[in-house]
Amino acid sequence: MMSHLPFGAFNPRFHGVSLFVTAERMGRIAGYEAVADPSSWAARSDALSLEEISTISVLDHERRHFHDFLVSPFGAVMMGMRMQASLAGLQAIKLLKQCVGKWVPAPIGRWIHWDDRQRRDWISTTGEAYGFTLGDVVALPHHPENAPAPHKSGIHAVADDLPVEEQLAQYALAATSGYRFMEVLRTKRVDGFGITIAADSVFEATAHLVQSQAIYTGQSAQASRLFEEFIANSDLSHLQALNTMALALHRATGDVSAERICELFTWMMLGPPDKVLSSGHPAARCGGVLTLLAQQPKNAVFRARAPTTAIFDALDRIFGEADWRSNVAAASAASDRRMAKFDRAAERLDGGYFDSLFAVARHWHSDQSASRSAFVEEPGSLSKPLRYVEESAYPAPFLEVRLPAGVHQRSKPVRSERMRAVAVDAEGLQAIGYTCQPPGSHPDGLLDATHNARITTHVMDLVFQDEPVADAYDKYWRDVLAGMIGKRVASLI
Ligand SMILES: [Zn+2]
Repeated sequence: MMSHLPFGAFNPRFHGVSLFVTAERMGRIAGYEAVADPSSWAARSDALSLEEISTISVLDHERRHFHDFLVSPFGAVMMGMRMQASLAGLQAIKLLKQCVGKWVPAPIGRWIHWDDRQRRDWISTTGEAYGFTLGDVVALPHHPENAPAPHKSGIHAVADDLPVEEQLAQYALAATSGYRFMEVLRTKRVDGFGITIAADSVFEATAHLVQSQAIYTGQSAQASRLFEEFIANSDLSHLQALNTMALALHRATGDVSAERICELFTWMMLGPPDKVLSSGHPAARCGGVLTLLAQQPKNAVFRARAPTTAIFDALDRIFGEADWRSNVAAASAASDRRMAKFDRAAERLDGGYFDSLFAVARHWHSDQSASRSAFVEEPGSLSKPLRYVEESAYPAPFLEVRLPAGVHQRSKPVRSERMRAVAVDAEGLQAIGYTCQPPGSHPDGLLDATHNARITTHVMDLVFQDEPVADAYDKYWRDVLAGMIGKRVASLI
């Protein structure tokens, strides 16, 4: 849908939810929050357009992605990998300052994979347009792309008696391989039933079901019908698994319960973390459930009125996979081990952005623990859209508001305990984004840590470029990075 940021949920650069908004959209959300009595809103909402209905409920949608990622083993693998890549990347950035040279090629991993001839070819064409020679570029060693990585992606210390350029290359390669692994998880596809299923198909299904419930609860029944029509008629690829499932269930049972669909899609996220590239991947489990529905439409998992745990247990037995509880427990144990490594790493890496990154890692870890406990205790708190929306048993996320289309001109700098601005001028009047404390929570040091950790992931995007940087941000982050490392970035693309 238009108001949804593609992939925002599967590449969490920010511990919380991110919204891409225009000033107009901000006004609509603010207008909704200002209506004290939901019934007066319901009376007015007859005239609302789909765009308005979706915008008002976009936070409910994004919040669900956040919670699915905290609870699911798949989400834990992705978030852990991102944290490790960020840590390796930040160590690389720190070392860049000590290296000789004026220019840093980006993505830095590509330059390291290039041999001398490929580097000279690039210099003699594009590099000359920047006006520099090979001698101006930081002297990075060459590691062939297919050679075994000097270190697998992880939290490790590179021997500090190595030349600084070699240390830098090793951290950069560790970060690069982390980004590549996330890309593999994100782009894995399963084809069948005339559709293509990816991890997004599963996570978007639950987010849209919850959004529809939130629209019903917070706006009106008519508004939620409009939203459901949009889903049913959508040709967006990430909604096809949801639509295929709904149609097939309707054919099999004569009834479509959003609750049952949400339970099935929630189960798909709960695969064993050690099989996340194969049968444990959400897309593989989604393909399995669709096949089961085609072959055994009368199976009790599609028909019986049963508690969520009974549905989950039955699906585990049918597919012969590890029990969902033990998968969540395995993901939890892996997160604990990773956190212990972070704590050890924090002893040798401290100060500035490292402190922020570690503070966010700890907060992330405690949000994961709280979310897993709430879920295992009562899976219906997540798998049933109505209960999820009404009970809100899960941690409230920080909010990132981004204004990619331009700068928000302020009359005064932000002075708030609950909000920080990313401003492109020294006075703090030209904001390109905001980081906000969750509503209802007590202001504490986490707001600054979350904000600063987000700045490191912006800068990381420039150096490693696993995703393109939005135009309005590009120049600003180049300047920030130049301030950190004393060098400029030259894009190899
Ligand atoms: Zn989404």
